[in-house]
Formats: sequence, C-alpha cells, structure tokens
Amino acid sequence: MDSCNCIEPQWPPDDLLMKYQYISDFFIALAYFSIPLELIYFVKKSAVFPYRWVLAQFGAFIVLCGATHLINLWTFRIHTKTVEAVMAIAKGLTAAVSCVTALMLVHIIPDLLSVKTRELFLKNKAAELDREMGLIRTQEETGRHVRMLTHEIRSTLDRHTILKTTLVELGRTLALEECALWMPTRTGLELQLAYTLRQQNPVGFTVPIQLPVINQVFSTNRAVKISPNCPVARIRSITGKHIPGEVVAVRVPLLHFSNFQINDWPELSTKRYALMVLMLPSDSARQWHYHELELVEVVADQVAVALSHAAILEESMRAQQQLLEQNVALDLARREAETAIRARNDFLAVMNHEMRTPMHAIIALSSLLQETGLTPEQRLMVETILKSSNLLATLINDVLDLSRLEDGSLKLDEGVFNLHSMFREVLNLIKPIASVKKLLITSSLAPDVPEFAVGDEKRLMQVLLNIIGNAVKFTKEGSVSITAAVAKIESLRNPRTPDFVPVITDDHFYLQVQVKDSGLGINPQDIPKLFTKFAQAQTPANRNSSGSGLGLAICKRFVSLTEGNIWIESEGLGKGCTAVFVVKLGRAERSNGALELLAPKPFVNPVHSSFGGLKVLLMDESGVSRTVTKGLLMHLGCDVTTVASSEECLLVVSREHKVVFLDLCLPAANGLEVAVQIRKSFTKHFERPLIVALTGSTDKMAQESCIRVGMDGFVLKPVSVDKVRNVLSELLERRMVFETL
Ligand code: ADP
Repeated sequence: MDSCNCIEPQWPPDDLLMKYQYISDFFIALAYFSIPLELIYFVKKSAVFPYRWVLAQFGAFIVLCGATHLINLWTFRIHTKTVEAVMAIAKGLTAAVSCVTALMLVHIIPDLLSVKTRELFLKNKAAELDREMGLIRTQEETGRHVRMLTHEIRSTLDRHTILKTTLVELGRTLALEECALWMPTRTGLELQLAYTLRQQNPVGFTVPIQLPVINQVFSTNRAVKISPNCPVARIRSITGKHIPGEVVAVRVPLLHFSNFQINDWPELSTKRYALMVLMLPSDSARQWHYHELELVEVVADQVAVALSHAAILEESMRAQQQLLEQNVALDLARREAETAIRARNDFLAVMNHEMRTPMHAIIALSSLLQETGLTPEQRLMVETILKSSNLLATLINDVLDLSRLEDGSLKLDEGVFNLHSMFREVLNLIKPIASVKKLLITSSLAPDVPEFAVGDEKRLMQVLLNIIGNAVKFTKEGSVSITAAVAKIESLRNPRTPDFVPVITDDHFYLQVQVKDSGLGINPQDIPKLFTKFAQAQTPANRNSSGSGLGLAICKRFVSLTEGNIWIESEGLGKGCTAVFVVKLGRAERSNGALELLAPKPFVNPVHSSFGGLKVLLMDESGVSRTVTKGLLMHLGCDVTTVASSEECLLVVSREHKVVFLDLCLPAANGLEVAVQIRKSFTKHFERPLIVALTGSTDKMAQESCIRVGMDGFVLKPVSVDKVRNVLSELLERRMVFETL
C-alpha cells in the first residue's frame, strides 16, 4: 500500500496481518499520547520539580512518536508476506510494551518526581549547611583571634603595654600595614597620635576631634571603613605611585581617664573615646572581610575593658600608696602621741612626787604638832590643817588618777563602808570653810539610805567633796543644801543624758545626791563643757578661782565607772546652781560579817608607845621627807641614823640597827634592791634588822612586791606619828613573841 486516504483501510480479507499492524499502531499512538498527559498531570502537582523544559521536550518527542504511528494508519503499504508478519509482530509487541509502559508510568512518575524533589531539597540543605559551616569556621577563627588577642592584651595591666600589645597583635593577626591609636588630648578638643605599629615615637600629630569622619566613627560601636585620604588615616607617608589599602576605624571607649598617657588628665565623667585606625597593605586588592571587622570591634571592646581594669588597678595602687603614706604618718603621729603621753606621765609622776614631799612634810609635822601640848583652838586648827592637807594629798593623787582613768587602768576599790558616817565626815570637812564664808549648810539624808553600802568609799567621798566644795566655793552668800536619797527609777532618767540607762536589781541601789546653792550660777550654754578637762565657766568669779577645772572631769569619770550619772542645772548667772549625781552602790549583806569589821574597834594601847633608844636607820633620798620622818621617829624616842642613798645605806647598816626604814620613791626598784641586799648580808635571822618600806603607792602590786622581797612592813605615805608608832609596835611585838618562842 503506497498511501492511505481513509481511516477505514481496505483489508484484503485474508490479510489479517495488516489488520494487526493497524490496531497495534493505534494502540502505540494511544500509549504515546497518554504519557505526556500523565507527565503534565504529575509535574503540575509537584511544585518544586526542576527540569520542566526537559519534560516538555520529552513530551514533544513522545507526542511526535505517537503522531508518526497515528499517521501510519493512513500510510499502510502492502509488503511481502514475511515483512508483513515481522512488522505485525513487532508492532504488536511495541503496542503491548507501550501500553504497559504508559500504565506503569502512572505509578513510576510520582515516585521519580518525589525522588528528584528530595534530592534537590537535600542538595539545597547541603549547600546551606556548607554555608553555615563556613560561618561557624569564620566565627571560630575570629573567636580564636579574639581570645589570643585578649590574652595578650590582658596579660598586662599597664595601660601603655595594653595599647602597644593591641596594635602589635592586631597587625600580626590581620597582616596590617599600619595600625594606630589616636588618644584625646587633655582639653578633649583634639585627637593626638599616641601609638603606631611601625613608628616608635609618633607623638606629635593632632587632628581636631570635630571632624565629620571622627564623629561618624564615634557615633557607632562598629568598625567603619574610612577614606585612606582622611586626616586620621594619613599615618604613613605614601608616595603617589602607591595605591593605599582599605582603612577601617573603630572607637575605643575610655572608661577611666585619670593620669593617662599625658599626665594629670582630669577625671571626666562624660564618655570619651580613643580612635583606632587599621590599614590593609597598599597596592593589594585585599578588602576587609566581615569577620575581620567583627574581630576589630571585639578587640576594641576588649581593649576598653582591659584599660578600665588597668585604671582600677592604678587607682587601687595609688590608694594603696596613699594608705601606706597615711600609715607612716599615723605611725609617726602614734609614736609622737606615745612620746607625749610618756612625757606627760613622767611629768605627772615627778610633779606628783615633788608635790607630795612637801605635802607629806606638812602632814607629818602637823601630826607631830598634835602630839605636843596644845590649846583646844590650836588643836582644832592643827586638825583642820591635817584634814585639809590630807584632802590636798588626795587631790594630788587625783591628777595621777585622771591620767590612769584616761588610759583605762584605774579600777574601783570596792568594799563595805558606812555611808552615813562618810556623809558626816564630808560635812565636817566642809563646815569649817562654809562657816568662814558665813554660808548656811543644810543636809538631809533620806531614811531609806542604807547605813552600809558596797562601793569605792574614797572615790564617792572625793566626788561629794568636789561637788559640795564647788557649791561653797562659788557661793558668796546664802546657803548650800545637800540631800541624799535612794533614787527611784523614773527620777533617774534625764533627757540631757540619754545614754544613761539605769538597771535596778535587788543587790544594788542608786544613791542620788543633790547639792543646791544660791551662788553665782552658770550660763546654761557653758554647762556641757564643764565636764571636760580644764573647763571653767566664763564668769568673773572664775578669774579669781583657784580651781584647775579638773574636779568635774574626774567626778564624771568616777561616776561613769560606778555606772552612774552626773549633771548640773542652772537657770543662769546669779541664779544659783544645782549639781546632781547618781552612783550605783551594792547593798551590804548583814550576814557576811563584813559589817562587823566596820564596827569601831576598841582602843588597844600599843605595847610600845615609846621606843627609847631603838636604833633605827632611815634611807630617804629627799631631804625634806628625811627630816620629817627623822623628826617623827625621834619624837617616838628612836635613835635615828639617816642616809640619802642606797649605797650609803648598805655601807652603814649593821646589826645594831633594829629597824631600817627604806623610802621607795622613784626609782622604786632601788629600795627593793636595797631590801634584798640587806637580807642577804645578814645570815642570822635575829641579827637582821626589820625592814619597813615608806611608800606613796596605794597600788596593791607595789605592796605585794615589798612583801615578796622580804620586807617586814610598810607605811603608806603621808607618814604620821600614829602610822610609824603602829608599825613599829606591831613589828617589835611580833619579833618579841618570836624570840621568846
Ligand atoms: P574647778 O572648780 O577646780 O575649776 P571643776 O571641774 O570642779 O573645776 O569645775 C569646773 C567649773 O564649773 C568651775 O570652774 C566653775 O566655773 C563651774 N562650776 C562648778 N560648780 C559650780 C557651782 N556650784 N556654781 C557655779 N559654777 C560652778
């Protein structure tokens, strides 16, 4: 068949082979046409399939193949029988395979498409991962550089080294041609080239801080690319032939400014920046990478932190230096104060001794005078001299007491005492003075005041004498009234002294003494000062007053030691004055037997009231006291030899001397040493003279040391006839008893 013009071919009735070919072609064409339809359908459903144009090409190819087979329907030709048979078989097979393939493709295409899509997706993912890995690697590298730089920068805490190291390390890490640091000048109006990588001593160049490029860099914490021709980038002289490398600049916050680079910069509270400029090598195509810029920014921050640390360290070192200097000054001041205190104590001790000697002479001689025949008036006068001298001696002690009070070494000497008789004694001392001034003295002791109390009698008496003494001293006419009572808790609280918090217990009571006078009075604003040392109110009367201004200061300290309180009230000058003090005293137990000790002792006639011919050796360095004590001893009938030094004493002392009196004045160790030597030089006990110390020290330690070195007794200065008589009779009696045994 040459051509075919119709759809229905003319089949020779016996030629079925042709028919089969015809049908096969039709099915082949059908199969071919269905495949592109399937492709179009599935590709449409898959949004991400990439090779659409290839598919279109494939579709066209299939369609064309299909079309050729379809056209075949009209172009059948008659071939030889064998050819016909082969063609029929081939076409039949092709039709079968094409149809099966078209049907199979329905299943395979979606799978193929999804595989392809997945593959594509994975590829994308892999690319993304690659990018991320690259980023991470860059970051890691940046981090490593930062760590390295930070380590280098922070390994020093000296500002100059920090900055220099930064430039060197940045230059090395980033392979820079130049790197520089511009620091603000003292005025803050300019930037000065302070450090560069290549130049050793670049200082000198300055640029105004208000340049737009500088403002631009200072306004952000990022590294900013700047023109290589701008003033801050012109660090190196680059000749015209060279093409400068890319330049970036970054700000470096300066957190502490003081004393930095240029000495004596003012401490600025406002935020200031230095400028770091980094230059890539010239004549190279290298550009700044993102991670390099990041590195620069991080380093700038690290430098800022390191600088602030360095500043803090510098501050603290300066403070330490200052402290050291202060300590040296304080140490010096302390040593000076100690020297002053020592000098004061030496002075007090010497003065005390120097004052005591004549005082003791007066007391001793008055006591001697008492022993002579006197008229009653003379006796009264001598007694008053004695009492006043004793009072004065106590006051002299007080000066020493005050210094001991101030250094906290004075302790109260507490014991049971008769409160009532102490009051009587004070009044007896005061009354003669008051009567000379024609003052009326009234006193009242409330019935609730116990007769016996536990406390420091001597100190209490001292306070009383001072307060009443002041009242009498500062009152020209009128009266002085003294009242004493056990204080109620509510009356103890005084708004002027809020620190005083009384605590009432069963074992204690607060004795309140009020001394009111109609005298000169005190300006209320002067009152608080009166309790400080050497304080005196500014009154005309004071100018003539013989007071030292120590009395109230001592009273205040004593009263505080007894957990008490003292205050003064006055409505003003000429309106009188009321002094009140409160002391905490212990209640005396009747059962403890102490009270019996206080009962007046029956008078015992001493065995020896006269010591006629008793050979006595007296050692006293002070001429006055030597004379006085010698007088007393002679008055008692003793045969007295006197020596003025310890060496002389040791030379003179012999077994003829029954008693040796050793004065333990300064230096005390001498007297003790003499006692030891005397004891050593007499091997036989009965031949050794009795050794008696004459001491002005009430200190228990001093008395204990006398006993320790083997002294037999001691007399507390001021020496009086009674004291010497008592000690002699007691010692001789003891020895007599001993000898008779
Ligand atoms: P002194 O009396 O030795 O100067 P005080 O310490 O005892 O030292 O007293 C300090 C000052 O307080 C006195 O100089 C005096 O100005 C003032 N003063 C104390 N008591 C009275 C008083 N009763 N009347 C007026 N002034 C007083």
